[in-house]
Amino acid sequence: MTTYKLLLLPGDGIGPEVMAEVEKVVGWLKRAGLADFETERDLVGGAAIDVHGKPLADETLARADAADAILLGAVGGPKWNGVAYDIRPEAGLLRLRKDLGLFANLRPAICYPALADASALKRELVEGLDIMIVRELTGGVYFGEPKEITTLEDGSKRAVDTQVYTTAEIERIAHVAFDLARKRSGRVASAEKNNVMKTGVLWKEVVTKVHAEHYSEVELEHVLADNCAMQLVRRPKQFDVLVTDNLFGDVLSDVAAMLTGSLGMLPSASLGATDARGTRKALYEPVHGSAPDIAGKGYANPIAMIGSLAMCLRYSFGLGEAADLVEGAITRALAAGARTRDIVGVGQTPISTAEMGDAILREL
Ligand code: ATP
Ligand code: MG
Repeated sequence: MTTYKLLLLPGDGIGPEVMAEVEKVVGWLKRAGLADFETERDLVGGAAIDVHGKPLADETLARADAADAILLGAVGGPKWNGVAYDIRPEAGLLRLRKDLGLFANLRPAICYPALADASALKRELVEGLDIMIVRELTGGVYFGEPKEITTLEDGSKRAVDTQVYTTAEIERIAHVAFDLARKRSGRVASAEKNNVMKTGVLWKEVVTKVHAEHYSEVELEHVLADNCAMQLVRRPKQFDVLVTDNLFGDVLSDVAAMLTGSLGMLPSASLGATDARGTRKALYEPVHGSAPDIAGKGYANPIAMIGSLAMCLRYSFGLGEAADLVEGAITRALAAGARTRDIVGVGQTPISTAEMGDAILREL
């Protein structure tokens, strides 16, 4: 059996609490003979600042580079609010993403039947919802130059951000989306604004070409990003895979998140290019942050973190069946009534982070 090298970066706040529950599931996968892992742990974010004086030590980056996949908890918290901008906790995560070239951010929005009433929408609109948002993560307006604020002659100011996309950047994210669609229901919607943006014109052109040349069996639909936001709220189940740029992806994935209930439920994957060893660089983390308001209390929902492990099994290791088992156990634990405080309903008693981990293990 292949041994996968897994780097665990618990980070700050509730990060270590939810990571402890993932370690239980990793232990179970090993004992069940479903997968073999060699796990290492290291520091990132505020925890690394406390020890190394910076949020990502070079040796941690080297470990991340050598690992088959990385699981990250969350970084940041009020304790490090005063540190210099370029060594703030979040800078560690940004450097990790950038140095590993993680250009594709995958955010599933799944609505578990047991939680359909926690959605911002009516149950019938979201029950069975299963969307995969594919967001371009290393290009676009977040990184384009020039990016500046200048002072004009009259003393007022002028701010500039620049949106840049190249054919190659759009091609590689399009491939990720179409490859995913092949394994799902075979539909891709691509969102941009070609009516007002040149990057939108190029985006549509390149996605259309990649589709025609390689994925003609997949159904492709182009949608304007503003209309897409509206459709997500009006009739979300029309979407399967949704591919979009960095900025629109930021907004649309938050809209989709609110269709599913709590932040504590949502996993994510950030994928890079395939390296010389034939593995794809990948980092898996919950969508939520370090939640300092509930850290240390045992309130945190570990499902987003455990769901991130399931994505890792599926996308980094090709262990689709093991991923199905983990996701199935989450679904059943919820159906059996397991609820942390963030998802508790009227008349239900909340359980702790560790008890939710145990409830999922019991289902496994
Ligand atoms: P970041 O800037 O790191 O993304 P944020 O300001 O968006 O952080 P989070 O840390 O994600 O905020 O927390 C937002 C709210 O959601 C907080 O009230 C937090 O307690 C709650 N929350 C986040 N994650 C979880 C979780 N796993 N379980 C329960 N509640 C959570
Ligand atoms: Mg946030």
